[in-house]
Amino acid sequence: MRSTRLRRLMRSASSTRLTKIWNKIRRFVLCAVSSEYVSRQAALRQGECVGCGRCCKLVFQCPFLGGTDENPRCLIYNSVRPNQCAAFPIDERDLADVNYLCSYSFSQPRVTAVQPLLTPVFERQQSS
Ligand code: SF4
Repeated sequence: MRSTRLRRLMRSASSTRLTKIWNKIRRFVLCAVSSEYVSRQAALRQGECVGCGRCCKLVFQCPFLGGTDENPRCLIYNSVRPNQCAAFPIDERDLADVNYLCSYSFSQPRVTAVQPLLTPVFERQQSS
């Protein structure tokens, strides 16, 4: 009973497919142009990646994801891993994309009602 309620709560807080697509683009742009925000968020990020591979399957499965379902492995981890992969999760929005099942957390939520960085129109309309 309790786990059903928790699952329902997590589903309602998690991202829609459209939001996940937007957040994928957002991570790419933020890592390309706003290294200050990404660095600031990296300083607030707590925990360690356990290599679950959930962020490698957002919207589509990364072609460089190898290994098995139980033991996923990035095939380019030590060579040409993109910055947006290394920076995941940049903030709470990214955690919502993986239903908060990432081993990272943030010491302070950086997403506010103002949604300062790269907020799409459809998200702004939902929050008002
Ligand atoms: S979802 Fe989090 S813990 Fe899992 S691979 Fe991505 S960064 Fe690592």
